[in-house]
Formats: sequence, structure tokens, C-alpha cells
Amino acid sequence: MTSSLAPGLYIVATPIGNLGDLSPRAAEILMNADIVAVEDTRVTAGLFRHLGTKGRMVPYHDHSADGVRPGLVARMGTEAVALVSDAGTPLISDPGYKLVRDARAAGHLVVTIPGPCAAIAALTLAGLPTDRFFFLGFLPPKAQARAEAIAEVAAIRATLILYESGPRLAATLAALADGLGDREAGVAREITKRFEECVTGTLSALAERYAEAPPKGEIVIIIGPPGEAPPPSAEDADAALAEALSRLPVSKAAGEVAKKFGLDRKLLYARAMEMKG
Ligand code: SAM
Repeated sequence: MTSSLAPGLYIVATPIGNLGDLSPRAAEILMNADIVAVEDTRVTAGLFRHLGTKGRMVPYHDHSADGVRPGLVARMGTEAVALVSDAGTPLISDPGYKLVRDARAAGHLVVTIPGPCAAIAALTLAGLPTDRFFFLGFLPPKAQARAEAIAEVAAIRATLILYESGPRLAATLAALADGLGDREAGVAREITKRFEECVTGTLSALAERYAEAPPKGEIVIIIGPPGEAPPPSAEDADAALAEALSRLPVSKAAGEVAKKFGLDRKLLYARAMEMKG
């Protein structure tokens, strides 16, 4: 061990735009780590310039680093290895998961230094429910795969968060409106930077707005949860009851339909008797 830090892996969140968001603890770890695994040495060199030092950097990507990873993991036995991505929290739509997995498997100390994350920052800006949320990362770029990915999450009763780029924004918002229904949403752009904004509205209104003028910069889309299902019509309830009565005795049929639609079981029982009679 050569630094003042205990040997192990330090996962360090870095700013997503405003360098003032680098925490003192993150700065201390970066300046004292023996080696810093980075996505792009040119990007992280800028951060080190801000700190007034030159870091010892090694490029790291989960997919291309099968040769690099074992070396880094071995070094964690005696040295402090820091992990950063270009911006924000490593591992969140960024490299690092396999390094953390292997560090843990080898029994090394794994420490996180939390900080900026565009997904969470956008969630705080949009004014949509925050009690349950689901992070999708980037959707597939091709239309069919994107529609399938959207269909997979349509029933989730939570706010959805996803990353997108300016040129694809309008098409993605339109695909979301198609696949999810026209929910309330927000487009958060350039968070913590000079032109930070969060525009809210329905998915279709946002799609129309950005189709006219594709925005520049980095973007997070936040989509509110689906609304409550409307109560079934009398015809729907009757149809479900008739179908259930074709398979089940009256009391079980009434119970099944009551559960399915959240209706009163006694009322459904009476209605089922009427239908039978
Ligand atoms: N690990 C990062 C984090 O914690 O936010 C995310 C990395 S991901 C490769 C990059 C994407 O995050 C961008 O394409 C954009 O969708 C979003 N993003 C990053 N910085 C942003 C910012 N300042 N404002 C809005 N979105 C941002």
C-alpha cells in the first residue's frame, strides 16, 4: 500500500456538469488513490486539472477489459483503486458492475462515495411521484425493439426514468405515448449546467414540441405512473360474470369477478342469481 487509503475499490461519483458538485470526500479519494480506473482518460484529465493534480489513470470498460480487470482486482489487495465514469455515478448506465462483482468475490474492501446521478437529479426536478420509480437506462434505438421494451414496462405502477439523446428525443416520446398512453412526463436537460431546464407536459405534447426543435445537450425523460384503472362498466361486469358462471358455481363465480374488478361480492352474488334465474 502506497497511499493513505486502505487497499480496496473506491467507487467515486463525479459531477454531471457542475464541478462544484464534486464532494470533498470524492476529491480526497481521487487525489490519494494509487490508480484511478476511468472510462476516458481525456475526460477525467479535466477533473484532475480542476483538482490541480495529475491522476494515475487506467482506461476501463466492463466489456473490453477482461484483460485489465484481473490486474486491477489483484492490485486492490495492496493498493487503493478508484473507479470513476465520465460523469455521474459509475455503474449507472456506465462501466463498473463487473469490477465491483470481482472485487467482492476476491474479498476486497469495496467502498462507495455517492454523489451526482442524472436519473435521480431528474426525478427530483419533474414533480412526478417519487415513492416508486423504475430506471430503464437507454431504450434500444431501433423502433421495433424500442416498442417491445416499452410494452414490457407499461403495466409497472411506478414513475419511469430513462436516458435519451437530443436527436432521438421526439421519436422516443411519441413511441412512449403510443405504448404507455398519454401520461404526464418531464424532459430534464443539461442538469446542473448553464442551460438546465425541465419541461413538463403530456408525452404527446412533449413529442410535438421536440419534433419541431430537437434539443441539444444531455437528457433524462421522466414518466408518471399509469392512472388508476377505471371501474368496469355494468356490461363488462355482466360479461365477466356470465363467463365465470359457465365454469364455476355461483358463489365462486361471484368471488372471482369481485376480486378481478374490486367489486362487492354480495352484490355480484345477487346479480349472478338473477342471471341464472
Ligand atoms: N452514470 C451517469 C449518471 O450517474 O447519471 C449516466 C451515464 S449515461 C452514459 C449518460 C446519460 O446520462 C446521458 O446520455 C444523459 O441521458 C444522462 N445525463 C448525464 N448527465 C446529464 C445532465 N447533466 N443532464 C441531463 N442528463 C444527463
